[in-house]
Amino acid sequence: MCSGRVDLKFILRAFSNGMDGVFIGGCRLNECNYVTHGNYHALNMVLLCRKIMEHIGLNPERLRLEFMSSSEGLHFADVMNDFGRQVKEIGPFGKSEGIGEDELKSKIQEVTKLIPYIKLAKREKLASRLESQEEYDGFFTPDEIDKLFSEVPSYHIDPAKCQACMICSRRCPVEAIAGGKNRIHVIDQETCIKCGTCFEVCPPRFAAVQKITGEPVPPPIPEEERMLVRKTKKK
Ligand code: SF4
Ligand code: SF4
Repeated sequence: MCSGRVDLKFILRAFSNGMDGVFIGGCRLNECNYVTHGNYHALNMVLLCRKIMEHIGLNPERLRLEFMSSSEGLHFADVMNDFGRQVKEIGPFGKSEGIGEDELKSKIQEVTKLIPYIKLAKREKLASRLESQEEYDGFFTPDEIDKLFSEVPSYHIDPAKCQACMICSRRCPVEAIAGGKNRIHVIDQETCIKCGTCFEVCPPRFAAVQKITGEPVPPPIPEEERMLVRKTKKK
């Protein structure tokens, strides 16, 4: 319905399903019927996705966004013919870039897993609405994307601080936190999608969730040591 609904996840899914190119058509900028101006979201997201594609060694020309109205049938046909021709010239996805099938699969999976983190880290830019083409040139820079991937955080629960209130495990969107009543909670790093929710919701008086960047995550506390021993007040 709206190009603003097209998520990074949809584009990566199309590529991982074997598409050689992805085309997104949106209404002309500033002609959105709603206050949301979803086509700006689409533009920002496509610019980001193209830079991510470059970062992982894929040709960004495989992804195209064009704005047009429903009355521009001939323009649409021209654009599609041109895009089809261009994608054929570029060749098969991954193969033309010299990336093996397994490596390609793992690169796409890795980026897909990081989508919540990427959207969170770039939320301001993704929601912005610039006025001119010049402002959009270099909107996302290669250095910025390198930094985005080199600074991926990990989240860890400090067993000495966790009070087993269970707020984080209830709010985690992917059930990456093992816990339970009176059990010190533990994050499964393989399942965690780095959305940062646990970090945000852990009550400040406990502040048990740590955000770690550039350092190894401490190993999880062994199962048999997870029962919380509460200190009793002296009479
Ligand atoms: S950052 Fe926390 S809430 Fe988000 S997926 Fe990882 S463990 Fe779950
Ligand atoms: S929200 Fe904080 S204190 Fe509560 S279970 Fe999670 S890590 Fe522990």
